Amino acid sequence: MTRLRHSLGLAVALLGAAAGAQAEQTLNIYSARHYQTDEALYANFTKQTGIKINRLDGKEEELVERIKNEGASSPADILITVDAARLEIADKAGLFQPLSSKLIEARIPPSLRTPTWAAFSTRARVIAYNKAAVNSDWVQTYEDLANPRLKGQICVRSGSHPYNLSLGAAVIAHNGEAKAEDWAKGVVANFARAPKGGDTDQLKAVAAGECGVAISNSYYLARLMRSTKPEDQDVMKKLSVVWPNQKTWGTHVNVSGAGIVKTAPNKEAAVKFLEYLASDEAQAYFANGNNEWPVVKTAKIANPALETLGDFKADTLPIGQLAATTVQAQKVYDRAGWR
Ligand code: FE
Repeated sequence: MTRLRHSLGLAVALLGAAAGAQAEQTLNIYSARHYQTDEALYANFTKQTGIKINRLDGKEEELVERIKNEGASSPADILITVDAARLEIADKAGLFQPLSSKLIEARIPPSLRTPTWAAFSTRARVIAYNKAAVNSDWVQTYEDLANPRLKGQICVRSGSHPYNLSLGAAVIAHNGEAKAEDWAKGVVANFARAPKGGDTDQLKAVAAGECGVAISNSYYLARLMRSTKPEDQDVMKKLSVVWPNQKTWGTHVNVSGAGIVKTAPNKEAAVKFLEYLASDEAQAYFANGNNEWPVVKTAKIANPALETLGDFKADTLPIGQLAATTVQAQKVYDRAGWR
C-alpha cells in the first residue's frame, strides 16, 4: 500500500503540472505489471507521440477498487493487468468502455480480444515435473494430474488464484462442468501439501523433491532458465517441462491485457497507446520483458529461453469465453476443496 500511495501522490502532482501546460498531452495508466523492462516501452511511446505518461503501479485488486472509488473523477485512462480472470473482474465492475480501433482489430486476432479489452501478450500454463521422480508419460495432459498414480505428488498454488481459475475455465469449456469437478477433486486428492506460495515456489519444491509435479506459467520457467544464479540453474536441471494436451485441445494460454477506463479523461491518447502496444516494436518490448509471446503475428522476439521452450499447440478458446467462465470455475474448485 505504501508504494501505491506514494506513486499516486506522484501521479497527482504530475497531473497538476500537466494541467498548467495546456499544450502537453498526457495519459494516465494504472498498471499491475511490474517489470523493469516496461520502462523502455513507455519511454518509447512518449518519444513517438509527445504524450507524457503518468503511471500508477499497484496490485490488481487495489487498482480496481481505486478506480471504483474515484468514480467519475478518476484520472485513470487505461488499466493494464494480467490474466483473463482479472480483466473479467474489472470488466464486470463496469470499469471499461467499448474498445474501437481498426488498427487493433487488424493486428490482434479476434480470439485475443473482447469488446472492451485486448490482450497484448500470451503465456502458457504448463506442467513441470521432477525427471528423477515422475515418468513423462504420466503428465502429458491436465487430465493426467487427476490420476491416482500421482497421489502425494502435486504442488500447485491456491485454487482462488486467477491463473488456476482461468485454467479451470478452460477445463470446463472443453470437458463440461461435471467432468471438470471430478478432475479438480482428483487433483486435490493428489496434492503433496496444501496450496501455498506462487508458481516459482512450486517449481522449487519439485526440484527439492517435496513434490513430483507442478503447474506453472511459462514465464516463471523462462525466468529461471535465464537466471545467472547457480541455485536457479540447479532448479532447472532437475525439471522437465510438458506442453499439456498436445493431442487434444492444446495447452491453456492466458494473457496480459488492457482496456480503456469508462471515464478516461484522455481517451484519444488512450486509444493511441493501445494501438502503440499492438505495433511490432512495442510487442517485442511488451512480451519479451516478461518472457511472454507477442499477440501480433509479425512481431519478432529474440529470447533464448522461449526458443529453448520451443513451439506448441495452444488452446484456441476465445479469451472472452474463458474470462466469462472463471466465476463458474471458482464454484467448481470450492466444491472440490481446492482452497
Ligand atoms: Fe505471474
